[in-house]
Amino acid sequence: MENTPKHPDSKFTSPGRGFWQKDNIKQNDWDNFRWQLKNRVNSLNELEKHLSLSMDERSGVLLSGDKLAMSITPQFFNLIDKNNPDCPIRRQVIPTIHEKSSDPDEMSDPCGEDSHMPVPGLVHRYPDRVLFLLTDRCASYCRYCTRSRVVSGAGEAHLQTDFEQAFQYLENNKNIRDVLFSGGDPLLYADSKLEKIISRIRAIDHIEFIRIGTRIPIFLPQRITPQLCDMLKKYHPLWISVHTNHPKELTTEVKSALERLADSGIPLGNQSVLLKGVNDDVLTMRTLVHKLLQCRVRPYYLYQCDLIEGSSHLRTPAAKGIEIIEGLRGHTSGYAIPQLVIDAPGGGGKVPINPEYVLEKNSKQLVIRNYEGKSFVYPEPTKAVINPLDPAALMGKEN
Ligand code: SF4
Repeated sequence: MENTPKHPDSKFTSPGRGFWQKDNIKQNDWDNFRWQLKNRVNSLNELEKHLSLSMDERSGVLLSGDKLAMSITPQFFNLIDKNNPDCPIRRQVIPTIHEKSSDPDEMSDPCGEDSHMPVPGLVHRYPDRVLFLLTDRCASYCRYCTRSRVVSGAGEAHLQTDFEQAFQYLENNKNIRDVLFSGGDPLLYADSKLEKIISRIRAIDHIEFIRIGTRIPIFLPQRITPQLCDMLKKYHPLWISVHTNHPKELTTEVKSALERLADSGIPLGNQSVLLKGVNDDVLTMRTLVHKLLQCRVRPYYLYQCDLIEGSSHLRTPAAKGIEIIEGLRGHTSGYAIPQLVIDAPGGGGKVPINPEYVLEKNSKQLVIRNYEGKSFVYPEPTKAVINPLDPAALMGKEN
């Protein structure tokens, strides 16, 4: 039996008040999502109150304002290890100067969303489903955000969703059965505003399935209030995809928020982005997916980082994702294994990438290998398939 090493963040813990320990904040305020939003760390001055920045970070903070704003909720900020300049949480939310240099292959819209928008704010790339961009704001901003061209309002482009036109497009296109709300983060909307949109979509007969993509349960677990859960559960089937990258993000507060959603009957999936120095090793990913299952969240996708401008310092070679899946498959529960995907540059959609388990294939057999590298032969059927309605075949005669 394998002796599995333990990751330092394998347990659920609470960062508590952390950097805000000395401030006299009432518990009610700390637990209030509005207080958390109002007190986000979003300037160099506030950042330097808590952390000693490297030159790369300092310049990054000063220069990132025209691309993607910096904003970090106190709840999430408290996960930063101030003594570790390579802290995986820090790498995700604090800008560095490397964001200012772009590789020739990088793009401002790597997934070609703008060219697949029949209506402003509605991306229709696959036949039966759409991506509905509700807002350009998030509780905190991820430095590798694929939509950083519009998210945060700092860049040159602006999201201008035309809600009425989008509703009409959905009403008129009967082949659309699945609507994914995203942004930005839809759960930043007030309950009543969000409910108006969800109920309008739910009233369309051919829309079978509603999904919300959100990082709020991780950045701002206080937002997952019983009132929000009560509202969401009126609109089943409704699913939520959360976004976590590192096991440290799954705190006791986040676990409770996810449990509130799961208790409301909402199936939960997780999307991770493979990031250099954050989660690009098997032990970190294995710990993350195990903790997700304990939070009743099914690991769904592991994304190769998109070719977003200024992301090369965070991107890994594609082989790294394959190595991680190889290290998970067979070594842990099938439910814990996300699908590795590359969102094809320019708008080709998600393409699944897998380690190679088929060693040889012909009309007679498949030679396959298992997670231990042992090979096996699976013979193809040799006899013609019998049609039970064909009397000649039943009598064993050839046609
Ligand atoms: S939460 Fe999502 S939309 Fe917002 S910055 Fe992060 S990746 Fe982008």
